[in-house]
Amino acid sequence: MWQQPGLQRKDLSELKGWRDDSRNGLNDARQVQPSPTLTSDALRQTNGEMTNSSSRQAPATLRITRMKLLVIEDEIKLAEYLRKGLSEEGYVVDLAHDGIDGLHLATEGDYDLVVLDSMLPGIDGLAVLAALRQSKPTPVLMLTARALIEDRVKGLQSGADDYLVKPFAFSELVARVQVLLRRANPQRNTAEPSTFTLADLELDLIRRKAQRAGQRLDLTTKEFNLLSLLLRRQGQVISRTELAEQVWDMNFDSGTNVVEVAVRRLRSKLDQPFERPLLHTVRGMGYVLEARD
Ligand code: CA
Repeated sequence: MWQQPGLQRKDLSELKGWRDDSRNGLNDARQVQPSPTLTSDALRQTNGEMTNSSSRQAPATLRITRMKLLVIEDEIKLAEYLRKGLSEEGYVVDLAHDGIDGLHLATEGDYDLVVLDSMLPGIDGLAVLAALRQSKPTPVLMLTARALIEDRVKGLQSGADDYLVKPFAFSELVARVQVLLRRANPQRNTAEPSTFTLADLELDLIRRKAQRAGQRLDLTTKEFNLLSLLLRRQGQVISRTELAEQVWDMNFDSGTNVVEVAVRRLRSKLDQPFERPLLHTVRGMGYVLEARD
């Protein structure tokens, strides 16, 4: 287990430099494949995104390798959305747009989990699943537009490990993916800690409780989710677009100011009653949760 709790941004840029050097400087850093020893957070940093943080803390737990997912989905837009979202969650994601390619990749490739749409051109999802199960026990999360109970039962009987009915919230997909991966890989530390702290702020993800200086913060579900995302990535600037996608499962192009409004409300509960503000706006970039001196 590669654990380095004191890992700072400086070290990460050195790592990046090392990786670039190892390729004789021929590759642009963005083309360099992620090092398997870095977490999604670290990768975001080495990829040069959101590096505006000065006091970034390394995640408490670093994964040994990034989990590899295969998404078999013929709706291009949805497939791209899942690829982007799951990549941001730290997974390596491959896409297949029909059952034939999907089955080939799932059988030949080395995936930790397959997200499988049930209605696919070529071979449909249930047939892909049945064929895959002949050779591999890879966890499969089925997606379907059909909410009929018999279809769910058929999917589960065919060896799907879980089932999600479209339309679904991205956060629910991520939660189910995490559960399946954890179940399939108990030896790998994919579990995130359930409590997070920053200065006098404490957040308990399981009890869904947030408190500052021992005082309970009365947050709505969205405010809690917003705070937990910011806290999990404390010290890192998160854009409004990403917050909109991650917390509201919405495309930021919709032109609403839902993020700003929620941040304002969260701030009034989180920071206003206390001396030291933790939630900061980074103009033109987004928001960051950190304890500044
Ligand atoms: Ca489909």
